[in-house]
Amino acid sequence: MPASRVRPGNLRLRLTLWYGTAFSLLLLLHIGVATVVHYRQLVAQAYRAAHEETRTVEGLMYQTPDGQISINENYFNHPEVRLSLDRLIEILSPDGRLLFRDSKLHGVDLGGPLLPSEGISTPSERFFTLSDGRRVLMVSHFHWFNGKPTILRVAYDEAPLDANVARFLGVLLLLAPITIVVALWVVYTVAGKALSPLSSMVRRAERITAERLNERLPVHDPSDDLGHAARVFNELLQRLEDSFTQLRRFTSDASHELRTPLASLRSIGEVSLQNSHSGESCAQYREVIGSMLEEVRRLTHLVDSLLAVSRTESGQYQLNFTTFPLIGLIQEIVGLVGILAEDKGQTIGIDGSSEIAVHADRSVLRQAILNLVDNAIKYSPEDTRIEIEVTSADDGIAQIAISDQGPGIPAEEQSRIFDRFYRIDEGRSRQSGGTGLGLSIAKWAVEVHTGTIGVRNLDTGGSRFIVRLPRAG
Ligand code: ADP
Repeated sequence: MPASRVRPGNLRLRLTLWYGTAFSLLLLLHIGVATVVHYRQLVAQAYRAAHEETRTVEGLMYQTPDGQISINENYFNHPEVRLSLDRLIEILSPDGRLLFRDSKLHGVDLGGPLLPSEGISTPSERFFTLSDGRRVLMVSHFHWFNGKPTILRVAYDEAPLDANVARFLGVLLLLAPITIVVALWVVYTVAGKALSPLSSMVRRAERITAERLNERLPVHDPSDDLGHAARVFNELLQRLEDSFTQLRRFTSDASHELRTPLASLRSIGEVSLQNSHSGESCAQYREVIGSMLEEVRRLTHLVDSLLAVSRTESGQYQLNFTTFPLIGLIQEIVGLVGILAEDKGQTIGIDGSSEIAVHADRSVLRQAILNLVDNAIKYSPEDTRIEIEVTSADDGIAQIAISDQGPGIPAEEQSRIFDRFYRIDEGRSRQSGGTGLGLSIAKWAVEVHTGTIGVRNLDTGGSRFIVRLPRAG
């Protein structure tokens, strides 16, 4: 895969953009919420100030000689003098008659007609838009003045409050792009650092080919996600390498095995042709053809075995499970190979109960036991005895033991004879039609049934192959 298609830099950029977008949206939300909270706090503060100012104004109210109400405007010693300067005042009687209006209102109505119970039970608060367009924030209080009930309205222009909020919002909005740029830069740098192991993994992965399957990805930190991914990938590479090595060995072993009978076929043919001028008899031709057919038979057997091995390798084997007694299977196998034993004057004894059954693929298991019995016949001398016993162990295991009186298997070879193409005595095995695949096929067949296979030598000479399988029922 070309490097440009992997583009770890692209991921870094995308991460930064995703983060940038999410961060900007959150920042805007934050600014919005902060502004609303700030505005509400200012409004609450302004109402509080208005209520306090009302009390001050109550103290400044006096009656003019003509019986009207007025406010002592000379009072400027209030600690928050601006509040006093900016306030707007209107005094009404409970029936709505105007008793006093601040000169700063320039005759404009403050708060309009009295609302039902305005300021009567508790002081009231509200916004009001004056007829000149100004918006004010107003509180109303009930007050006894010289024995007469009055409603005192004190209001403040909302404009300075709005200006304050606008300034607050302006500063936050001005800072936002700087904050976003700094955040993006931080993310871009951090993402670059975090993804740098990925880049080196990609570079290394690009170098891995079928010929260089021994290469592994670098694992910077095994505890983080990328380290974990690299480890998993390396395990996958290990499995691939194992499979490749196995495949290569299998191919070269198989070609090697096929070469021998083919060379043999060729030499039989060539020798026969060279001798043809000396006028061979019909009987001699028959002998040559017989030898060739024998080689062809070996070839066919080898190809069949190779096919069986490659099927097991590719995992294409569909097991067809049935439950059957083992003794029946053993009898069937002995029926098939008995003739070979007879040719060598060997006898085969079968011992076991017909109640011992297994749940397995009968034809796969038959192939495994057949290979073992066939080997026992092949490698035992003439006029010997082969014993096949079917027994059952307490732990729910059915056991098949095949004992012969052959040469036995040297202890150091016992673990290797189950390997593919492994033969102890190559010449003898080949001569007896062996392919070196029989035991490896038997091992696979037993293990797919979660069983085990092993061998040991008997004290009396000969070997004893033992197959252990889970018992049915
Ligand atoms: P082959 O086709 O050569 O028999 P196997 O995989 O069946 O291949 O067996 C591997 C080797 O194990 C044989 O070449 C043989 O040397 C040895 N072997 C297998 N079974 C026996 C036995 N019953 N007695 C002695 N040697 C055996």
